[in-house]
Amino acid sequence: RAYNFNAGPAALPLAVLERAQAQFVDFKETGMSIMEMSHRGKVYEEVHHEASSRLLGLLGNPKGYKVLFLQGGATTQFAMIPMNLLSEGKTAGYVKTGSWANKAIKEAKLLGSTFIAASSEEDKYMSIPDVSKLSLPENTAYLHLTSNETIEGTQFRQFPDTGGVPLIADMSSDILCRPFDLNQFGLVYAGAQKNLGPSGVTVVIAREELLQNSPAHLPTYFRYDTHAENDSLYNTPPSFGIYMVNEVLKWIEEQGALAGIEAKNQTKADLLYGTIDQSGGFYRGCANPKDRSIMNVTFRLGSEELEKQFIKQSEAEGFVGLKGHRSVGGLRASIYNAVPYESVKALTDFMADFQKQHG
Ligand code: PLP
Repeated sequence: RAYNFNAGPAALPLAVLERAQAQFVDFKETGMSIMEMSHRGKVYEEVHHEASSRLLGLLGNPKGYKVLFLQGGATTQFAMIPMNLLSEGKTAGYVKTGSWANKAIKEAKLLGSTFIAASSEEDKYMSIPDVSKLSLPENTAYLHLTSNETIEGTQFRQFPDTGGVPLIADMSSDILCRPFDLNQFGLVYAGAQKNLGPSGVTVVIAREELLQNSPAHLPTYFRYDTHAENDSLYNTPPSFGIYMVNEVLKWIEEQGALAGIEAKNQTKADLLYGTIDQSGGFYRGCANPKDRSIMNVTFRLGSEELEKQFIKQSEAEGFVGLKGHRSVGGLRASIYNAVPYESVKALTDFMADFQKQHG
């Protein structure tokens, strides 16, 4: 297996891939692959409902929440959220933390009134702004934040108290990387392709009342109430992807659920940030240390030349995906749930060797 540090689609647990491989052609002695089955049949429906109850189970089964499996990626949610929840006379607050927050803001602006509740733009998005004392206008429909900025490598440690205003989070790049209290949120969403499974499935978890009464003029697919009323089976769901999500969720349970996953993620992040910090300035972490992401580790070398050399040499030694996003440059190692400790250890060994050669 490659040492896969891709930002997304990203590494999946080997055990999950092997299980899926074993079931690929003949799922539970039906003589069919799960992807060949009717989504209205009993066998698929069981998987579908299992995935949703397993997800809520991992989050402690909070009352009044529902899971939706949708398509169109987190990008479609950037628009569906304001389409469904930002009505005339209301305004939506956004926390502006970087590239992905900005994409969410761009879509909302096309659809209604918005305001920036907090921003780290002045800091070139290398930190998470203070959200402990936000003042939200009375007509605020919701407050949106990006719990982990995949490109900049920053992550929220604590979420704001919104005083009853629904808090919405794009958790695409850190969902289920640690325990969190779903009760703090009105709605959270994520494209599956980092911590949950393959691309093609988008997960939305929301308080039931936010999934009712979508505005009458909205087309059917874009209405949350369509999907909530039909248990995400209004039209053909991405069935193979949902099956894979269910398998990934089983694997998370086997890792000691979210507390177990968090401990493993923290160990990996500590090893990598430790290597950066102890390099005497040869490697430099990009994000403010207190806001560093445990999922996407962004760092730089002394020159772009040296960074190019690092990427070239790392690729030759079997490391994949270490180039920073084209918009910010530098280097990035995405160490999602499924990236094994051994891969991170191999990377830090490589980093030490590279420093010896070029330092
Ligand atoms: N939000 C975040 C934080 C992301 O990292 C990404 C993709 O990398 C997206 C949204 C966009 O997701 P999708 O490609 O599923 O639309």
